Amino acid sequence: MDTQFSAEDLAFRDEVRQFFQENCSAELRARLASKKTSREAQVEWQKCLYERGWIAPGWPVEHGGTGWTATQKFIFESERTSADAPDVIPFGLKMVGPVIYTFGTEEQQAKFLPRILRSDDWWCQGYSEPGAGSDLAALKTKAELDGDEYLVNGAKIWTSGAHLADWIFCLVRTDSSGKKQEGISFLLIDMKTPGITVNPIIGLDGGHSLNEVQFNEVRVPAENLIGEQDKGWTYAKALLQHERTAIAGVAGCKRVLARVIAYARAEGGLIDDPAFQRRLSDAEIEIMALEYTELRVLAALSAGTAPGPESSLLKIKGTELQQAVQELWMEVAGYYQGVLPDADGVDHSGHEFGSKACISYMYGRATTVYGGSNEVQKNIISKAVLGL
Ligand SMILES: Cc1cc2nc3c(=O)[nH]c(=O)nc-3n(C[C@H](O)[C@H](O)[C@H](O)COP(=O)(O)OP(=O)(O)OC[C@H]3O[C@@H](n4cnc5c(N)ncnc54)[C@H](O)[C@@H]3O)c2cc1C
Repeated sequence: MDTQFSAEDLAFRDEVRQFFQENCSAELRARLASKKTSREAQVEWQKCLYERGWIAPGWPVEHGGTGWTATQKFIFESERTSADAPDVIPFGLKMVGPVIYTFGTEEQQAKFLPRILRSDDWWCQGYSEPGAGSDLAALKTKAELDGDEYLVNGAKIWTSGAHLADWIFCLVRTDSSGKKQEGISFLLIDMKTPGITVNPIIGLDGGHSLNEVQFNEVRVPAENLIGEQDKGWTYAKALLQHERTAIAGVAGCKRVLARVIAYARAEGGLIDDPAFQRRLSDAEIEIMALEYTELRVLAALSAGTAPGPESSLLKIKGTELQQAVQELWMEVAGYYQGVLPDADGVDHSGHEFGSKACISYMYGRATTVYGGSNEVQKNIISKAVLGL
């Protein structure tokens, strides 16, 4: 593999770097960090990317993608994290968008894709249920066809961002007679539909991102069904592979580690401990190795291949490394890690590492769980990749 950037790649890197410098200001980042202004600031940022034509690098060009090579996608992501620019909210752009352009009708594509690209609609993911997490196909939320509408009853749980979302993509049971994977359908539901209730679940870090979503006699137009009725498991799995590739977060992990090292050097003490040095080197080497795996996956995606079960490998290794780096970050933050932000999300620790290390560490526990737990990813690799 040639790992040198070409002259064109370097010119692209400069262009991207300049864009982030000019558009992602400290003022915008401050608004993103504050609970009062974060949604509005996130939309503003995504619209800025949209206007530049860079909102959906992973999409096919005909649907609004950039047509970038794997190297360009890699450069863009590295420059984004180096500039501390926020990632896009994944549910529309990295999850349901690819399902709609792959399996949706022309009408569905025309209705939903432009609004996702412009960040006019926010989406959330209605997969997990109280009795259906790892065993997702055990889901019971029922949808019965009644004329030209589905009547939906049941509940979803751990639905990130449901309290902010305009739409939810939902797995529903339309048939219980055969194998459990065979009677599932993929429905797009407007969150304003009567009969939907969103109940907050407050996390360990005091934050509100999770919810329970109840459906009580919710009427959904049948035209909101993706693909064929009872075949939703196929579309659901395709979406999960996109989700898992996105969760790996290699560029972000590399960036945090670089900061941990810089701060450890500036603070002194811990950085001189050989055991700590060894853990830093281990993390650095493993991130480098994962970067090459990610490049291979990106190269396959750029060649038109949809992400396959190999995305489980990226998910496992990427999330394990994120957690290892978060632990190092906590150690470098020392006493400051104990200072949590106020109710508005503002940090008062007086240290750049303060609450960020702690929040990132606590929320980071979830990365090995969401998108399908890492134990379940190992089962997928053993079956679908190794054929065991
Ligand atoms: C922060 C966060 C955000 C989330 N956001 C969303 C969202 O937006 N939408 C959504 O639909 N879901 C969301 N989830 C739910 C997530 O997908 C599930 O938590 C996950 O799939 C695991 O399911 P569970 O919690 O029911 O755990 P369980 O399935 O009960 O698993 C419990 C433990 O048993 C292990 N286990 C279970 N089965 C096996 C097996 N066959 N082999 C080996 N080990 C096994 C698991 O690995 C895990 O350690 C979110 C979760 C978190 C933590």
